[in-house]
Amino acid sequence: MGEGPATGWIALLIADYSPAATTRFEIMNERATRMNLLDLPACQWRDAVSAAGLDSYRGDQLASWVFRQGVFDFSAMTNLSVAMQEQLADLLVVQPPAITQRFVSADHSRRYLLQVADGELVEAVYMPTGSRATLCISSQVGCRFACTFCQTGRLKLQRSLSAGEIVGQVLRMLADVDTPPTRTNVVFMGQGEPLDNAAAVIAAVQALQDERGPGLSWRRITVSTVGLVPELRKLAALGAQRPRLAISLNATTDEVRSELMPINRKYPIATLLGALRELTWRRRERVTFEYVLLGGVNDSSDDARRLGRLLRGLPAKVNLIPWNPVATMEHQRPSPEAIEAFRREVLRTGIDVLVRYSRGADIGAACGQLTAASSAG
Ligand code: SAH
Repeated sequence: MGEGPATGWIALLIADYSPAATTRFEIMNERATRMNLLDLPACQWRDAVSAAGLDSYRGDQLASWVFRQGVFDFSAMTNLSVAMQEQLADLLVVQPPAITQRFVSADHSRRYLLQVADGELVEAVYMPTGSRATLCISSQVGCRFACTFCQTGRLKLQRSLSAGEIVGQVLRMLADVDTPPTRTNVVFMGQGEPLDNAAAVIAAVQALQDERGPGLSWRRITVSTVGLVPELRKLAALGAQRPRLAISLNATTDEVRSELMPINRKYPIATLLGALRELTWRRRERVTFEYVLLGGVNDSSDDARRLGRLLRGLPAKVNLIPWNPVATMEHQRPSPEAIEAFRREVLRTGIDVLVRYSRGADIGAACGQLTAASSAG
């Protein structure tokens, strides 16, 4: 195809396009504006640009600007003529969320307040370790699951993010650091419940693995969930593209878990672990169980032993997260001695276990603190 004017192409694209918009009317509105290319995996950018009237190889050039150079503005793409830049800009846009604020922790992690097209704020955290980095991203604005120990739940669900808004958080953070990391891990552990926004999260997980895009391996991507069982199966259906899984377990009895995490009434521990037992695990793959330690609630030696029993037979490892105090919540962080005793007791059951102290607590970036606060703490 030559680089002529655009013709009736958009119907073609719309079939693959899954914006946050859900009603027909909203989708038509999206059509009236421009499509965010980040909603499509980079392997589809050839089709997108040829539908806009450019030769399809221009799609690869575009992907190289965006994913290799961190350039998002067509007018800065010097191997495209001004005419082509304008042709693209008529119909398409590469729009990662914009940085509105950046908080840098004493431990060098950074919390970003990012603004998406409709003005909502999302939050993402960049955590460097030597030359590597872990990027913690949000899947929704707020969260509907109301876990008693987590501040994000207090925001309620504002809305789900589109695939492009999710992938865009990664791009925006990578473009913002002086030296890109030698190895990038992405964890869906920011605001929101990823599996409550499964379609967009699955599209984002695929886009992150696209070789013309960020090209991350499944081993570098972790989706963390409260345990929505049907959506967990959908994620598992990605097969070789399935990301690593992390499960927020946080308790060893249904009584306590339902108290802490109301969703447990719908998917109790046995149902959740049963679904995990049905999965096929890849070589060296392990599933992480996150366990927020709450003094006097879930940190007894009985809990530690039950945890070992529950996880037996699964390729499991446990991350103990000492509770990060968040305003107006009644819980307590156990003493360092109690944390260490719990860790040893779990280890004795034969399960690998680490204590994960959250980073960025001084800038409101630690687990459970993400509320899009526009001040540091
Ligand atoms: N909704 C998903 C993704 C968020 S991950 C999920 O729950 O898995 C956020 C992690 O931080 C979860 O494992 C959660 O249990 C943990 N967390 C929440 N509030 C916390 C707090 N105040 N202190 C420590 N960890 C917390």
